[in-house]
Amino acid sequence: MRLLWLPDVLRAARLNVVTIDGWETRGKELAEVRGIVWHHDAAAVGASTASVEHLLVVGRSRPAGAAVPARPPRDGTWVVVAAGRANHNGYGTWGNESIGVEARNNGTGQPWPDVQVESYVSGTAAICRHLGLTVAAVKGHKETDPRRKIDPAGIDMDQARQRIAMRITYRPPTTPTTPEPEDIDMATAAELQSQIDGLKAMDKLVWAAGEEARRGPRLAHHRLGEGAPRRHGRRRGRPRASARRLATPDGLA
Ligand SMILES: [Zn+2]
Repeated sequence: MRLLWLPDVLRAARLNVVTIDGWETRGKELAEVRGIVWHHDAAAVGASTASVEHLLVVGRSRPAGAAVPARPPRDGTWVVVAAGRANHNGYGTWGNESIGVEARNNGTGQPWPDVQVESYVSGTAAICRHLGLTVAAVKGHKETDPRRKIDPAGIDMDQARQRIAMRITYRPPTTPTTPEPEDIDMATAAELQSQIDGLKAMDKLVWAAGEEARRGPRLAHHRLGEGAPRRHGRRRGRPRASARRLATPDGLA
């Protein structure tokens, strides 16, 4: 495996990236990337960019996979040195099947500018995302090889990992131009419910009107007396019979 995607992945994370000539073919093939190891390069405060880059490429037998930032004024620029295996963590956990990141710092108390640490965090998170690694795959050299190493001095790796972890999962918010599918479903569901409620209310009105229609005529019959013509007839008849009875003396008809 060669890290030919590295500059693009870093640039996609909005980082400033430069490459050192020949980076694509520098270093042997990596069998795998088991982790990312943070270092400081221990370059003197006043060392020139050229001398630091020369050191990263050929010096101290440890051309790193990438360096951040390898040039003054430590502005957070990533300098990609090699796409292949680099000799940066030979005795440490994961060995050199890992990506080394050499940050410009003299390691003896030189402050770490916020922009540099921010860049270190962002770039490392971008690499983790690209490779599908969790933050557990990020260690300082002082953690992979604690008996021999102190770098990156002045960086709390637990704090750094917390920041990296947030970046790995964080996705910048985007302004949706169209509603999300869930929103559409919700809107449709709400509309349907509103229509159902409307229909139910209308049903009640229709039912009530029907009741009124059914009851109305009966009430009207009672009021108008149309419902009991025979009773009226009988009533009308009875007074006549009574009248006849009254008109005819009992026992004399
Ligand atoms: Zn180191």
